[in-house]
Amino acid sequence: MIKKLMKVTIIAAIAVLLLAACGNGDKGETGKSDSGKIKVVATFSILYDIATQVGGDLVEVHSMVPIGTAPHEYDPLPEDIKKATDADILFYNGLNLEGGENGWFFKLINTVNADKEKVFELMEGVEPKYITTDDGTSEKVNPHAFLDPVIGIKMTENARDAFIKIDPDNKETYEKNAESLLNELYEVDEEYKTKIDEIPKEKRILITSERAYQYMAQRYGLKEGFIWDIDTEEQGTPSQITSLVKFINSNNVPVLFVESNVDPRPMETVSRETGVKIDAELFSDELGKPGEEGDTLVKFLRYNIERIHEGLMK
Ligand SMILES: [Zn+2]
Repeated sequence: MIKKLMKVTIIAAIAVLLLAACGNGDKGETGKSDSGKIKVVATFSILYDIATQVGGDLVEVHSMVPIGTAPHEYDPLPEDIKKATDADILFYNGLNLEGGENGWFFKLINTVNADKEKVFELMEGVEPKYITTDDGTSEKVNPHAFLDPVIGIKMTENARDAFIKIDPDNKETYEKNAESLLNELYEVDEEYKTKIDEIPKEKRILITSERAYQYMAQRYGLKEGFIWDIDTEEQGTPSQITSLVKFINSNNVPVLFVESNVDPRPMETVSRETGVKIDAELFSDELGKPGEEGDTLVKFLRYNIERIHEGLMK
């Protein structure tokens, strides 16, 4: 608690210094940057991609949580605080991804005293799904809705509407940019339907470490097996492993998957105990590195369905 308080105090102190350093005169009347672009801050890579695609040349986007770091808990860096202070728009996922109202993003928002009118939740309007916490006594919102292409459509529409609200003069450009991303996402949704249809019904079982694929699996009719509910809780305890092993032994599971951002050892244990092989890595909480596989939302979603299709057809 004391450590947390100290952290908040330090962030607050940095923010005050930055605010003082910025003064009043460094923003134009429109709040645009020197380059004339709308300044956007996104909490993590997936929102960064949506903001970049929909904003196009009109915006410059800063992503806070770097690839390789889980978005659930994060300590903003001085650069993040500065960018958040200057931002015209701030995008967060919501659905508890950034730790909810007491999580890191809202702490940052309060610290920089951001105008609430500039802060947009890209999951706005999405029906939450719930997971069970370790002790089994309470339920928590599952934040990983972005793994479902249909929810990607909703997020894109929300980003488009946010840009139009902040920068109405460029409404047509945002609409046009959004439309091309939306068209790609409609195609991806069709690909998910077609590919999952091709998998024999009894093999439509998706085994992963974290229960990150709940929205996607339920939409397209995959049964889910997982070791832990969410990365912020305990990962790979003996009882979690035993319960997945039981599930696998009572279902006809073709292969196992492991996410690119988790410790693979618990899934390796499951593989040894069941004799079922780990077939591929899937993306979950973050895009691939720029220039590599899965470095946009569309590529990330396609990569996952291709691996799942390949694996479950075995
Ligand atoms: Zn996660």
